[in-house]
Amino acid sequence: MRAMVLHSSGQPLQLQDRPIPAPSANQLLIKVLACGVCRTDLHLVDGELPQAVLPRVPGHEIVGEVVAVGSHADPERIGQRVGVPWLGWTCGECSFCQAGRENLCDQARFTGCHLDGGYAEYVVADQRFCFSIPEALSNIEAAPLLCAGLIGFRALQMAQGARHLGFYGFGAAAHLAIQVARGRGQEVYAFTRPDDTQGQAYALSLGAKWSGSSDQPPPHLLDASLIFAPAGALVPLALAVTVKGGCVICAGIHMSDIPAFPYRLLWGERSVRSVANLTRNDGTAFFKELQHTHVHCDTTRFSLEDANQALALLRSGQFNGAIVLVP
Ligand SMILES: [Zn+2]
Ligand SMILES: [Zn+2]
Repeated sequence: MRAMVLHSSGQPLQLQDRPIPAPSANQLLIKVLACGVCRTDLHLVDGELPQAVLPRVPGHEIVGEVVAVGSHADPERIGQRVGVPWLGWTCGECSFCQAGRENLCDQARFTGCHLDGGYAEYVVADQRFCFSIPEALSNIEAAPLLCAGLIGFRALQMAQGARHLGFYGFGAAAHLAIQVARGRGQEVYAFTRPDDTQGQAYALSLGAKWSGSSDQPPPHLLDASLIFAPAGALVPLALAVTVKGGCVICAGIHMSDIPAFPYRLLWGERSVRSVANLTRNDGTAFFKELQHTHVHCDTTRFSLEDANQALALLRSGQFNGAIVLVP
């Protein structure tokens, strides 16, 4: 099979011919139909994920068809369409796993980080961590839901009850999360980089109540904000426009340092927290909500061999929505 492989951080991915992997006992062998390109893949390439093991095939927003199963996996799954997310395996035994917080498992293995991912024609994945994909969604439209969609959903779950909701950074995750938030009756205030008037217009086109630059005050204070951009400087900016008792939620896996800020920004029982990974329950709840909230995914498509160009486009930010590789 063809695969795009990262051999060392800071280097382009290399196109390689590899044997098709054999599924182990609990795994499915999946023919990749589409794989989203996530900002985490850029962090992997840039060496910003210390837990990653190289060489590695990136990609953790995988939609594919099951073509074979391991000895303990369900043969009925052959022919089914499944989604493979970032959470690839957990121990099931630690205190986090036992408490339904498997996203925090210390032994967790992540797709496209510890495990080879979907920048390839085939991938193997543990069947217990694969999702069924609703039929209404195309392969290309479903792929970004597996991370951008799910992380946005998990962050939104922490901001339930927030009527005025800020989004900092309007990329793949935000363009999906705004549709879910609006379905819940929340008003979204979208912040972008100061010069990104095109991103501000895009946010308005998706139903944002207001959009502007991250250093600009919104028309009134916000009940909660989700920070999707990996820029720590946004944390004090967001706190400064959050109501008492409100929350700032950092939704990325990597963020630059948060600068020092005066305590008065946190005072008044404001809080700052992060979102880490996902649980399988998040996936089940998310796809259930999508049954009554239609979410449209804007995608830019690349062939597998052009993964480096896709990553460069993601880095530039000169596109709307999500980027998807199609082998
Ligand atoms: Zn565990
Ligand atoms: Zn991701």
